[in-house]
Amino acid sequence: MRISGETAGTVRGRWAAVWLGGFSLLALLVASVASRAQAPAETAEELDRKLIAEARTGSQVMANLKYLCDEIGPRLTGSPALKRANTWAAERMKAYGLTNVHLETWSMPEGWQRGHARARIVEPENGRTLSVASMGWHPGTPGKVQGDVVILRAKDLKELAAYQGKLRGAIVLSGPPTQLPDLKDMEKIGVGFGPTGRKEKGKGAKRSFEEMMAFRKERADFLKREGVAALLMDAGKHFGLLFTSGGWRGTERPSATNRLPTLAVAHNHYELLYRLASRPAPARTRIELDVSNTFVPGPLPVFNTVGEIRGSEKPEEYVIVGAHLDSWDLGQGATDNGTGTSVVLETARILAKSGVKPRRTIRFILFTGEEQGLHGSRAYVEKHKDELARMSACLVHDTGTGKVIGLGGGGRAALRPILEKELTSLKELGLTEFTPRVSGGSDHASFDRKGVPGLMFKQERAGYGFTHHSQADTFDRAREADLIQGAQAMSVAALRIANLPELLPRTKE
Ligand SMILES: [Zn+2]
Repeated sequence: MRISGETAGTVRGRWAAVWLGGFSLLALLVASVASRAQAPAETAEELDRKLIAEARTGSQVMANLKYLCDEIGPRLTGSPALKRANTWAAERMKAYGLTNVHLETWSMPEGWQRGHARARIVEPENGRTLSVASMGWHPGTPGKVQGDVVILRAKDLKELAAYQGKLRGAIVLSGPPTQLPDLKDMEKIGVGFGPTGRKEKGKGAKRSFEEMMAFRKERADFLKREGVAALLMDAGKHFGLLFTSGGWRGTERPSATNRLPTLAVAHNHYELLYRLASRPAPARTRIELDVSNTFVPGPLPVFNTVGEIRGSEKPEEYVIVGAHLDSWDLGQGATDNGTGTSVVLETARILAKSGVKPRRTIRFILFTGEEQGLHGSRAYVEKHKDELARMSACLVHDTGTGKVIGLGGGGRAALRPILEKELTSLKELGLTEFTPRVSGGSDHASFDRKGVPGLMFKQERAGYGFTHHSQADTFDRAREADLIQGAQAMSVAALRIANLPELLPRTKE
């Protein structure tokens, strides 16, 4: 019971009566000791074991992922499929016994629908069609267009200026082909050797990710001004896999800024184009493109799905656990981020089923618009800014199907000893790294930017580099044992943080 000003008087009165009758007080004490002996409170370690066991016995992690992938399908931000996923996830949360389950609206400036993307080599007449995929929130071509293939070798604006007046009608290759990693290293390699991958900078890079993205924007604007027909990039993956990405900033309309048709080309086909276009004159390389995409006029409503287990002592303080429900659309959005979604739902099920009473409220959020720039989580923290000071942490699972091996992020070294002490039960499950640095951007970053410790699970790669944003991101890539372990890690971490005496420290080092 919370004591408001009105009830305080009667409570004081009741205690006074108890003091007056010493015998009653003694009886009360005896009764309370006796009842404690009958139902001793579970220790934190016992609770951990209970959650870990529930994850093993009643797991729904694969059943939920299968439904999401096979019956709902890929979930592009703003699409009807994503809305169906929102509603379905809310139903799951209700079935597990969460409270305050609802869809929370945010607004996106424009929707986008992928059409067809066809490409073939016209000259030399070698009969090759090319495997291509359009970047998201980018335009198509005005029907069939043909153009000479030109290799762009500009790394900065000065080098770009040298192409002025020379590219009208051309179909431009963005540079030399990507150096693919050795296949034997694939299990270890993360995302982003693709054309807009987040870690393309790699070792010894001179430019930050932001600088690289800024240059790409300027490059696209320059090529559009010069009358280029399309920009082609190396999908940067083995076995002819494709890649897609793209988005917008804030409330800007993507159709106003992404004006150049931009496509990923399967690596082997990109290499072919590069070899052909490298031949000395008079050899000519010409291709035909036919790409149809549609921008859907906005603003459009989009939804995050939210549910809670209400805190027993500090219900107005929160631990957020989340993953993103939206996905790209070349595959099924299985490992990015159906797996995280399924782990969050499973965490909700495990915690609710175990009947735990967390001190703080644990809030489960399935974000949307993550892939286009963390839009759903940014909108969420904006809308909930009055609660941010009372949020202890935001935990996110978003690096594919791999087993959880660490937790950290945000550069907060002060968290390490706390997490290390609280999460001892997870060590035997393989979660051993508590690091202030975890690579990878996801929705926790939107919270972290506003001072709430944003923590991301570090996971084994488990082939994420193959599947990420490609047509191979399908259900068969998911590994049940690892996802069960992910739900164990998430449920134990969420409950432990929710039960700490204080909110997690926010100091950064
Ligand atoms: Zn993701």
